[in-house]
Order: sequence, then structure tokens, then C-alpha cells
Amino acid sequence: MTLMTPAQLAAAVPKAELHMHIEGSLEPELIFALAQRNGLSLPYASVEALRAAYAFIDLQSFLDIYYAGASVLLHEADFHDMAWAYFLRAAADNVVHTEIFFDPQAHTARGVPMDTVIQGLASACARAQAELGVSAALILCFLRHLSEEDAFNTLEAALPYREHFIGIGLDSSEVGHPPSKFSRVFARCRELGFHVVAHAGEEGPPAYIWEALNDLQTERIDHGVRSLEDPALVAELAQRRIPLTVCPLSNLKLCVVDDLKDHPMKRLLDAGLCATVNSDDPAYFGGYMNANFVQTVEALHLTREDVITLARNSFEASFVSDERRAALLALLDNAVA
Ligand SMILES: [Zn+2]
Repeated sequence: MTLMTPAQLAAAVPKAELHMHIEGSLEPELIFALAQRNGLSLPYASVEALRAAYAFIDLQSFLDIYYAGASVLLHEADFHDMAWAYFLRAAADNVVHTEIFFDPQAHTARGVPMDTVIQGLASACARAQAELGVSAALILCFLRHLSEEDAFNTLEAALPYREHFIGIGLDSSEVGHPPSKFSRVFARCRELGFHVVAHAGEEGPPAYIWEALNDLQTERIDHGVRSLEDPALVAELAQRRIPLTVCPLSNLKLCVVDDLKDHPMKRLLDAGLCATVNSDDPAYFGGYMNANFVQTVEALHLTREDVITLARNSFEASFVSDERRAALLALLDNAVA
């Protein structure tokens, strides 16, 4: 891989994806196919009309369509098929390990049983390992626009399936719903031995990142791009080596940055932070892992060393066993040797 450009190297290297909402991988074609299979009608006339609605002005305008899209998921096979479609794309992008977010409340609120959601996703994860050699784990996310009580109830309903998920996250509408709203339920999740992460500092202020670290004691920050506004926070994140799961095309689509050339990824790396590249909601934001990686490398003129650092960070930041981490890092070393 020595003769490759940095962008070609970014596409080719083995890597982990740590910030991807499985409901955000539902392509318009699959939304229509599942609606038809389940006898549902959609408020969009065609695949093209649905895709044309993907012109977002902020996080909320995206979430409105995201929840409408997820409403076609009713049966275990629907969840399985959605996740399997993602795994095929991830494997094609040389993703060898992935930790996938899912939003059970988006489904249980519609009357879909927790069992259906988790069994469908878990069977797809097992198939990804068996057929693609991609290791996959699930992270259950609480919707932060709902109450902490609702999060507690969701945790309770999911505990019978706890062997199928490794961690807990916090997503959905950020502003007005600070991490501290969920301090007690996250304390319970840590007690139960789950990994904990939270979205913070995407649209919300650096204070939300401090809250995620101090109140929720998260091991990673999802997004975290606004950390650069607070030098003391940058120092804390660097010193504690808290990973940031950054999603460049999401930031562009949701107008967190106006141009990928202005994306803070290079500044995050130069500040010594453990930043990673991820696709967030790839069906909605214009691309999967390699689209994010390659376009970011090109827009910011990242170097070969930056690319290797980002791939290495993705494995260091993952929740795999030490043994698996060593194997993944060796895979990367061999690939770039
Ligand atoms: Zn996200």
C-alpha cells in the first residue's frame, strides 16, 4: 500500500466503525420494500421523492424523517435484513469490526416488542461474523428527548437480552436535553457492567461534553466536535485519551460545518485527540465509512500518517477484548507495512 495516495489508503485499510445508528442505514429502496412486505403505505410517492426529502437544515429536521423511515420495521426479519444490508456495505469498505447503535424506544413505542428488535439485530451480527468475518456488537441507545423514567423502563425491558448488547448510549435531539438528565439511569447501567457512551458536542455546547464525562462517566464521546471551543476540555480529553467518534458527512449534512474543508477533524488530530471516522446515519447523510473517510482525507489534505492514526484510533477506541484489539492492530500494521 506504499504507492497509494492517502485517500486510496483510507479506503483500503482495515478499520472499525464505532458510531453508526442501524436505523440510519435504511436506504429508501429498503424502506419501500419493507413497507410493501408489511402492507404499509408511506407518505412519499416514490423512492426518489423520499430521497429528495433528505435535505436537512439541522438535527431535528433529519430526526423527523429518520423516525418516519424506521416505522416500516415490524418483524424480526425486517431488523435482520436492515442490519445485513449494512454489514455488506461495511465489509466492502474494509470495516472489520463495528459497534452498532440501535434505538429500541423508536420501535417499542410503536408496539414492536423488544424481543423482535434485539433478536433480529443479534442474528444479523452473528451472520456478519460467520459469513463476512466482521465482528459486531450492539449498543442500546436511550432517546434523550424522552424522560429518564422511559430510559429506565427500556433498560428493564432489554435486560433479559443483555448477552446481545455490550453498552449503552444516548442519542436523538441534543439541545435542551443535557446528559445530566440521565445521570441516574447511566449510573445503573455502569453498575450492571455495560460500557457507556453518549452523543455530546454535536449541536450542544462543550458543557454537555463535560456533563457526559463527569455525570455519565462515558468512555467515549459521540461527535464531540465542539470540544475545540474549550481548551480545558481539549486538554482533559487528550490527557484521558477519551475517544471522539466523529462523523464528517453527518456534520456537513446537518450544517454543523458549511464545507468539509472547514471540518475540525485535522484540528482534533493535531490537538492529540483520539478522533475516529464514522458514518452516523449513512443512508441519510451521503455515504458509508469509506465515503466519509475518503472525502475527509481529500477535503482536509490529510496525510498518510493521519490516515493510519485514524484507523489505529478506531481499534484503540473499540470495546473489543485486548486479544482481539492486538489482532486488529496487527492486521492494520501488516496492511500498511
Ligand atoms: Zn449519531
